[in-house]
Amino acid sequence: MAKPLKKIAKSVVPRKIKPTASQYFRKTIHFGTRYECPICSAKLKSFLPFGEDTPVITKQQVIGLGYRPEAQCPVCYSLDRDRLQYLYLTQKTALFTDPHLLLHIAPEHSLKAILEDSPSIHYLSADIDPTHTMIKMDITKIQYPEESFDAIICNHVLDHIHHDTLAMAELYRVLMPGGWAVLQVPISLTLEQTYEDNTLTSIWEREVAFGEDDHVRIYAMDYVDRLQNIGFEVEIFDWTQDRKNFGGEANKFNLIEEEKLFIAHKPK
Ligand SMILES: [Zn+2]
Repeated sequence: MAKPLKKIAKSVVPRKIKPTASQYFRKTIHFGTRYECPICSAKLKSFLPFGEDTPVITKQQVIGLGYRPEAQCPVCYSLDRDRLQYLYLTQKTALFTDPHLLLHIAPEHSLKAILEDSPSIHYLSADIDPTHTMIKMDITKIQYPEESFDAIICNHVLDHIHHDTLAMAELYRVLMPGGWAVLQVPISLTLEQTYEDNTLTSIWEREVAFGEDDHVRIYAMDYVDRLQNIGFEVEIFDWTQDRKNFGGEANKFNLIEEEKLFIAHKPK
């Protein structure tokens, strides 16, 4: 039985985000003028490497996975994709200005810290493993009634779910009409169709086939069709069409040039 939603959300007492002593230290030793992290405002000489290549990730040019030499903020540990999303949320949505009941599934640590402290957001974090979230949730069977949330953030989750269209339908069901969901997934630039094979069950087979041992597919652009078949209107946001607001020609936030954001809107 789900707990009353507003009660959970309001039980989060807003607290001011203050950098910890270790963050101050890291801000100092990594200080530079080349880059900037929009999430923690650190000015940086470089980002840290993140990710690991496998042959299939390289061959299929999977955006959002694989080794990137400068991906992670050394201060708040945000990744390139977290920074893109934060910039989108601040500049292209009213999330930080108008009241929103937000469901954040499998929350990214750096985003979670900012979202749960924002006065405009009634925040609920959830995961199948609730160790670091407010509640446990199976997104193929969400324990809330329809039209419960104004917005949902669920990144790099659907690629782990066997019945991804069931999860998409559940996300659609619990969104308010007019609501939106950021549903980022790793996506191949070369595959014409999403590659999945449910007969591959061992971690070794999955790593070889999908690039990570807990992934069950590699999406191609027909990912958009799956979302549309559920009823979503899909916005594909390309930050390079708005460079001046996303780090300029110098790409000072070091976003991935090819990364697009997939925003699923529930029609009003
Ligand atoms: Zn940062």
